[in-house]
Amino acid sequence: MSKTFDISIDALRDATENALPEVSVGARHAVPSARITTPAAGDGRLGGRSFSSDVAVASHGGALAPEGRLPNKSFYIETFGCQMNVHDSEKVAGVLLGRGYRAAENPAQADLLLYNTCSIREKAAQKVFSRLGDHKLSAKNNGKVIGVLGCVAQQEGEEIFERAPWVSLVCGSASYRKLPDLVDQIETGGRRVMGLDLDTDETFETEITRRDNPFRAYLTIIEGCDYSCAYCVVPHTRGPERSRASGAVLSEVRRLADSGYTEIQLLGQTVNSYRDPSSRGMNFAALLRGVAAVPGIRRVRFTTSHPNDFHREIVEAIDEIPALCDHVHLPVQSGSPRVLKAMRRTYTREEYLEKISLLRSARRPISVTTDLIVGFPGETDRDFEETVTLLDEVCYDGVFSFKYSPRPNTPAMTMPDAIPEEEKGRRLAILQDRQRQIQIERNETLVGETFEVLVDGRHASRGQWSGRTTSNRILNFTSSSESILGEYVQVRVTRAGPNSLVGEHVESS
Ligand code: SAM
Ligand code: SF4
Repeated sequence: MSKTFDISIDALRDATENALPEVSVGARHAVPSARITTPAAGDGRLGGRSFSSDVAVASHGGALAPEGRLPNKSFYIETFGCQMNVHDSEKVAGVLLGRGYRAAENPAQADLLLYNTCSIREKAAQKVFSRLGDHKLSAKNNGKVIGVLGCVAQQEGEEIFERAPWVSLVCGSASYRKLPDLVDQIETGGRRVMGLDLDTDETFETEITRRDNPFRAYLTIIEGCDYSCAYCVVPHTRGPERSRASGAVLSEVRRLADSGYTEIQLLGQTVNSYRDPSSRGMNFAALLRGVAAVPGIRRVRFTTSHPNDFHREIVEAIDEIPALCDHVHLPVQSGSPRVLKAMRRTYTREEYLEKISLLRSARRPISVTTDLIVGFPGETDRDFEETVTLLDEVCYDGVFSFKYSPRPNTPAMTMPDAIPEEEKGRRLAILQDRQRQIQIERNETLVGETFEVLVDGRHASRGQWSGRTTSNRILNFTSSSESILGEYVQVRVTRAGPNSLVGEHVESS
């Protein structure tokens, strides 16, 4: 099995530090190395052109155009938001590479500059407009084409052309399958080109995907969302739920394994709501088993799970199959039954805790992380206190906590009793302090234990290697080995912090 671990460690840290939701603001599609995977990996042929299925990309955004097309134009994508956005950008990059574009090293050098945006909270959306402002002059003077993709594109639509008339392309994620046509229109001088359909039952399938993380391959199995949480823009920006056929998912996993990937992360806003549209009719647990059974795959992760669709079958699969990682991200959002109802989360606190009991009843320890929102409209001190007691009751291994951010077109936007920003900040600080203590206590119990780690980085200045355990903990460790990047090694934990562990490589003699 071939491997192409020709990478810059710092770029890698960016990619791997950000392995949980809402993380990689500014993940860029010009990291020094990446891999191209294509559906034609076996025979290297695609649409009459040949590709390598496992290409280490030159470290300066080198020419990646397929044979027969001149790489005379370059692109650069800046990605904001969650892993789904990161992976969407990998696929968009694949579409462009397939059309003969090459990857530019930085925005200044690109002919086509794309922002793949996030609008989950107001700050993320604002950041995009500030970035667009930075490139106004080069769009006007140097003919640089600027495009806005993703959630802000879907949400703001044509309005973007009014606010930033130098933007030429606006495309929401539900319209990515039309990207080749939209790019054609741009290439023939089109201005104000738009793709904003939401009423689709199709998923975004690409002939080529440019993967930026050489160790963990993202793979979206379900797009959109059919829930309607009162605070959330996703159903408006990503459209209705649609799953990929299991056959297509499993073939892609086989190709990834053939090209050297051992870790797969299945993605979806509600990944466990997966329903196979093909006649195989696999549910999520069956798909997990199928992915884990692909030869060469050693780790399978998935995010994000919705508590409503989280069933015993998933825990049983994790229990039985070592390749299924012992980590579940199960967002609760609030510990208050009243707030959960107002949020339209479709479960009560008690029902959520039953899912946690399922996880705790597994034969092997499964680490559990969550998302929480503080300061939802009408959240009282008592409601907030119930969220804090939930932390104590569940003892999460990690929490992503956010101040509620009012979003356009959501029911919560017009709810009474908004919580002042200052009070939201106070509650967030209390929550984060408490959770920090819990993580310190939990991580300290791991000192002295030995874990298998997939090595994904090196801190040269600290003389440390870095990797993740199957429970998704970051473990920084010393080793006398010279080259263990991409390897699975045993590491003994010697120290614990709230967010990571420190250890030493247990080297086989
Ligand atoms: N589908 C996932 C679920 O059901 O939990 C969540 C996906 S969302 C992209 C990621 C997280 O952003 C949510 O879990 C929530 O905590 C947070 N979030 C979403 N809308 C928000 C808002 N308006 N204000 C603050 N945080 C928000
Ligand atoms: Fe948003 Fe709720 Fe759908 Fe998650 S389940 S993406 S929070 S609407």
